Amino acid sequence: MTTSPPSRQQVLIIDDQKTNLKILGDILRPDVDIMLAQSAEQGLRKAITLQPDLILLDVIMPEVDGFELIKSLKHHAQTSAIPVIFITALSDTNHEEQGLRLGACDYIYKPFHASIVQARVRLHLQLARQRKLLEQLAHIDPLTGIANRRKYDQVLQQLWRTAIRQHSNLAIIMLDIDHFKEYNDHYGHAAGDKILFQVASSLKQSLRRPNDFIGRYGGEEFVILLPDSDEAGSKQLIEHCLTEIKQLQLEHGYSPVSEYITLSAGGICWPAAQDAELSDILKRADDMLYQAKQQGKNQLLWHPTPA
Ligand code: GH3
Ligand code: MG
Ligand code: MG
Repeated sequence: MTTSPPSRQQVLIIDDQKTNLKILGDILRPDVDIMLAQSAEQGLRKAITLQPDLILLDVIMPEVDGFELIKSLKHHAQTSAIPVIFITALSDTNHEEQGLRLGACDYIYKPFHASIVQARVRLHLQLARQRKLLEQLAHIDPLTGIANRRKYDQVLQQLWRTAIRQHSNLAIIMLDIDHFKEYNDHYGHAAGDKILFQVASSLKQSLRRPNDFIGRYGGEEFVILLPDSDEAGSKQLIEHCLTEIKQLQLEHGYSPVSEYITLSAGGICWPAAQDAELSDILKRADDMLYQAKQQGKNQLLWHPTPA
């Protein structure tokens, strides 16, 4: 396996004093990419949109101060995991304790020593990198490189909550490789593993929108989630997915339905405004997959959308 060199990390510095921004920026720029914000409001916006790896935060600022801002950062789902270091003239233990209690990972007194700021920033960036790596390992299926079951469970709950809040649709599609046991039996398990990788890669490539989700549900089963998508569009996309896999022409000499690898799929597009238990909707998608298998495989069956 080849590994690419780690990309440069990004640090957002939030301070109302231009000279502080400049000095801190100059100290850190050799190691990292720097982004600057001159107010709490601008800082929050940049943190959400630019997703820095670390935030250096001043405390005393007009309007919203650093202690208020860290509360917002920790409250927002998109910024809550970003480590924050306070760098402030409030150099007493009470304020330091307050900052750490609010969720900062470190607290540096002004006037600061350049080498200490560099060392502490380096340390926390290294920890942030390790945390990201662990997160990836916990959520990626190693064989196929797509999301694993654990990640799917999380994303499903998130997308379902969003769909309810926004009164939008959520399409759920279960997919399963046809006659895969025969494939393994005849071509061997290693060849089967390669097919799983190729099928997962093809499915992933067929999805177009950033919030569309693909995960490995189990052995040779995959699941696709399409938020905010209507029935016609969802069906068309999944038909496209199945066609793309057929066009890979992955030889399967022991499948009664085709000379190539095929998938069966069952889907449903649920309008979240319709009251229902998520488990019941999943069961309907699963039933559709079961029926697709019963009715000859190599096809997509769709559950009627409730009016
Ligand atoms: P159907 O068309 O009804 O879906 O039948 P099938 O043979 O595909 O399904 P079945 O559930 O009988 O068998 C699934 C096979 O998938 C059996 C198992 O060996 C294989 N499988 C599951 N996980 C892996 C894996 O990680 N690697 C490989 N190579 N095979 C796997
Ligand atoms: Mg200040
Ligand atoms: Mg199968």
